[in-house]
Amino acid sequence: MSVDTSEFRTRLEEERGRLANAVNFLHAESTITLEDELGEIGSGGTDNHLGDTASATYDRGLDQGLEEGAQQTLVEIDAALKRIEDGTYGICEVCGKPIPPDRLRAIPWAKLCIEDQRRVG
Ligand SMILES: [Zn+2]
Repeated sequence: MSVDTSEFRTRLEEERGRLANAVNFLHAESTITLEDELGEIGSGGTDNHLGDTASATYDRGLDQGLEEGAQQTLVEIDAALKRIEDGTYGICEVCGKPIPPDRLRAIPWAKLCIEDQRRVG
């Protein structure tokens, strides 16, 4: 094992916590925004109501994309932590060669070397 997994385990766990918070925040935020809009409609709205609604809808779409991206990364991070447990962390899943530490520092949950990642797309 040429890779120092303790360094990456710490980074993965930190990133995992950060993303979990972000997902919770996005969940809470979109729920609150929806309730605010419903309340506003019931109370007769404000002067620039249409503008607010349009931007709120746009923001929710953006949050949805962010949330899906964050959840996908959480899955990748969990898989990487399991690879650390299994002793296969830092090994390309396709060619079986070690993934360069520089790449793991950039993307600690990387499971493919750069060459195979390019091939997959
Ligand atoms: Zn490879």
